Amino acid sequence: MSDTPADLKPAFRSDVTVELVKHSAADSDVLWAARVSTAGEQSLDELQKDPERSKGLINYLMRDRHGSPFEHNSMTFFISAPIFVFREFMRHRVGWSYNEESGRYRELQPVFYVPGADRKLVQEGRPGKYVFVEGTELQHKTANAAMEEAYLQAYAKYQEMLAAGVAREVARAVLPVGLYSSMYATCNARSLMHFLGLRTQHELATVPSFPQREIEMVGEKMEEHWAKLMPLTYAAFNKNGRVAP
Ligand SMILES: Cc1cc2nc3c(=O)[nH]c(=O)nc-3n(C[C@H](O)[C@H](O)[C@H](O)COP(=O)(O)OP(=O)(O)OC[C@H]3O[C@@H](n4cnc5c(N)ncnc54)[C@H](O)[C@@H]3O)c2cc1C
Repeated sequence: MSDTPADLKPAFRSDVTVELVKHSAADSDVLWAARVSTAGEQSLDELQKDPERSKGLINYLMRDRHGSPFEHNSMTFFISAPIFVFREFMRHRVGWSYNEESGRYRELQPVFYVPGADRKLVQEGRPGKYVFVEGTELQHKTANAAMEEAYLQAYAKYQEMLAAGVAREVARAVLPVGLYSSMYATCNARSLMHFLGLRTQHELATVPSFPQREIEMVGEKMEEHWAKLMPLTYAAFNKNGRVAP
């Protein structure tokens, strides 16, 4: 019988969580910001008058990379993903605000990443030219068993140190980057487009990127939310090669 309390039972996940918790984001925000250039205070009245013109204006802004009108909106996401995803995520500095759970102020929960059956496991080629191909059943078994064993051992040592009175901020040093963390990330459409251009692979991208699959999974879920909030902006992003303006 284990001494681990029920809420500290290790869990292994292959997915990520992305929830849109707060937003103020609509295509009209883009139009309003763009039209103030020419219509001044009347710009708000102009919005609903001519939908085709609105669509055309958004496409023009995207195509000619007039980026600032895409900044007057806000989306806050709750994200739960492995720490190695957050390390990549937080490289995105411009137009992003982050708050992440603390390993100093709370005991970290034993939730760990293992690759799902559909995760391509084998890397072939050379830097800049990698392709990923399916792993065999044995490779999947080996990877999952190795990860689970290492995670459990690391977490047991974490618990051992906490039980001995060692501070959380010191004990956490043994925990691996496959541990799940959570954060709020707030962005606007322009910074999200830059993120999506780099962190997703898409057939419409004119400047392809080759992101790690796990951050791409986060990006895909953010993209789904954003597409519903700003359909004209989203369509223009795709039409213009998924390059942020
Ligand atoms: C496929 C892939 C592989 C990667 N591999 C590595 C890796 O091996 N090692 C590694 O360290 N990183 C790696 N990165 C991270 C990458 O180098 C960027 O840090 C990350 O993609 C964030 O991009 P960004 O700087 O454009 O975004 P942001 O920080 O959001 O910046 C947005 C834009 O603002 C401008 N800007 C921001 N800061 C500055 C500045 N200081 N000076 C001038 N202009 C600025 C730039 O135009 C920039 O594109 C990788 C990223 C991807 C997508």
